[in-house]
Amino acid sequence: MSSDQKVDASSLLVTTIKGVGEKLSQSLLRLGIKTVEDLLFHFPIGYQDKTKLKKIAELVPEEDFVIQGVVEKVSQTFVPRKMLLVKLKDGTGHIYIRFFYYFPGLRNIFKEGSELQVSGTGRLGRYGLETIHPEYEVIKNNEFKPQILPKYPLTKGITHQKLRKLMVEAMNLVKENKIEIFDYLPKHEFNSLNQSIIDIHSPNPNSNIEDYLIGGESPARKRIGLEEIVANKISYLSIKEQNKNRIADKFEDDSLAKKILSDLPFELTSDQKSAYNEICKDITVGSPMLRLLQGDVGSGKTIVAALIAAHVVANGKQVAILAPTTILANQHFQNFVNWFGNDGQVELLTSKIPAKERRAKYEKILSGQAKIIIGTHAVFQEDVSYDNLSLVIYDEQHRFGVSQRLKLKEKADNYPHQLLLSATPIPRTMAMSVLSGLDISTIRSLPPNRIPIVTTTLPNNRRDALISRIKSAISDNSQVYWVCPLIDESESGLTGIEDLEKILSQEFNKNEYDIIHGKMKDGDKQKILEDFKNKKTKILLATTVIEVGIDVPDANIMVIENSERFGLAQLHQLRGRVGRGTKDSFCILMHSDDPTGLAEQRLKIITETSDGFVIAEEDLKLRGPGDILGLSQTGLPSFTFFDLLANKELQKEADRLANEIVKMPAEQQRRIVERWFPAHLELSDV
Ligand code: ADP
Ligand code: MG
Repeated sequence: MSSDQKVDASSLLVTTIKGVGEKLSQSLLRLGIKTVEDLLFHFPIGYQDKTKLKKIAELVPEEDFVIQGVVEKVSQTFVPRKMLLVKLKDGTGHIYIRFFYYFPGLRNIFKEGSELQVSGTGRLGRYGLETIHPEYEVIKNNEFKPQILPKYPLTKGITHQKLRKLMVEAMNLVKENKIEIFDYLPKHEFNSLNQSIIDIHSPNPNSNIEDYLIGGESPARKRIGLEEIVANKISYLSIKEQNKNRIADKFEDDSLAKKILSDLPFELTSDQKSAYNEICKDITVGSPMLRLLQGDVGSGKTIVAALIAAHVVANGKQVAILAPTTILANQHFQNFVNWFGNDGQVELLTSKIPAKERRAKYEKILSGQAKIIIGTHAVFQEDVSYDNLSLVIYDEQHRFGVSQRLKLKEKADNYPHQLLLSATPIPRTMAMSVLSGLDISTIRSLPPNRIPIVTTTLPNNRRDALISRIKSAISDNSQVYWVCPLIDESESGLTGIEDLEKILSQEFNKNEYDIIHGKMKDGDKQKILEDFKNKKTKILLATTVIEVGIDVPDANIMVIENSERFGLAQLHQLRGRVGRGTKDSFCILMHSDDPTGLAEQRLKIITETSDGFVIAEEDLKLRGPGDILGLSQTGLPSFTFFDLLANKELQKEADRLANEIVKMPAEQQRRIVERWFPAHLELSDV
């Protein structure tokens, strides 16, 4: 094949790669990988350092290593479970290797006297240093080949070994000039995209690993980081640019909003008022609004959104409100019925509603009888058609992807107004550089007479103190959220929801607590929440399902287990579930007996401040280069690649390019965005 016949990698399905069958392609799809380009855009989240050979005596628990040694002893045990136990030694010491799953042939590789190279992570076992399921190879003439191997986000059915192999196949196609990853950026001075992608997956073993991590100095990292930040900028900028020439409905009639306001049991805060006024201006100028309303948990964004919705309804047009969970959709539904009345104008639409009932709702939406349609993803399913959708409100916007937003837009005749609500305060530095194109309103202060939440930390070894405190609190009519992170059972020493239930069952009466988690049926969840709201239960043992949208004013204590496992933003969000009523509120952060560096700093910040904006800024500062995974749980625009704070120069260059790109045809802009936010991944991610 000559080079001008190169195939565009985005048009080649990943199944064309050797070894990718039906089953593997399903697993790959879960990672958002459909085409060869998607595969190559599945970037490493770290690297395995196999550049230096170590002696066994030098190994440290929890660190990666590569060693070479001789098998001294092999034994197979069946108790407590089937396992192959290998003792490997070199001149300096020995290490145990355990295999729980293995094929019979492994015993021919690991036999007494074999010389092997083994790489893995050390840990302290019952008999000293050990490692589980390491990588291994038979040594040929004492050779050692330094390597830097990529570590990827994985999913069920895909191992590192498998993914690395596929990546090599795909990279070979690029190297042999058979395929090309199209470069959408206008002229720039950076390395070529194709070469950068090869480098990022297979760094030169002589280079410094840091240079390939977030904020790193390698040309490959910079080139790809540049593109990611451009894609982020474009995702809003291009909408804004196109909106200039679009016509949208004007909504000046504030009669219904006024009526709702006068029925409220409270006054709007001044921040709420100014946010409302800003948004009102947007919807009266005649071009589509694209605005983010940000405000801390409990700052009262919902009522502001409802007032804007009232303008639209007063004009006989429709509003769709999209919530990330069914629980939240239900709660909004109740609030909106309160505000707008119970005459069928407000409809709830979730995928859990039986088909027949749902069809009836579709009719009402199509006929225009339903004015406010509140729901989860169900509100933009293909079979839902609107009469005259004019405003779309996304609650907890960071949970929705760019392409989901595009999808709901298609339901409208005219281009709809869009209002995004976010409880994750976005630091100014980030807002300016990433969310260019998005107008922002901020509710900075909380409604008055909120009593500040007292936050304290408590090590696990003082659990007794916690239990007795909770006992006395619930006998005094308090209600408690008790939250556990979802944890991997292989991790020891952590309290999972089942362990916690055991503890609670010994300490409390069965009817005093309930358990709620994401895997339950919606009806069950709803019932459990009702019981809690009605004070039938005192303690709600929960996973992070309760993170958004639950409003039980009388619950005033929040216990968070393994709090060092949560990001700052998430802790803050969780804490926001309490402090909503008239009682003094407490948040108790349980942590390991001696939290280390970063965990300790995080806990310090969260106990010292309750201002979400300060927390967000601190959170960004604490994230050093290399902390890639963390960002997605902050609710900030999740960069897989580029560390925003790390490189101002790149920022500037990205600005320049983005401004050129928004002048290009919309189709080309869309391709850049979709490369970074694959539509099929976002939509399946429910
Ligand atoms: P969030 O911004 O987190 O979505 P909500 O809109 O759910 O917050 O509001 C939290 C609670 O505060 C609700 O119970 C709401 O009725 C109440 N609230 C909102 N605005 C005010 C206000 N100005 N004064 C008193 N309470 C308010
Ligand atoms: Mg909310």
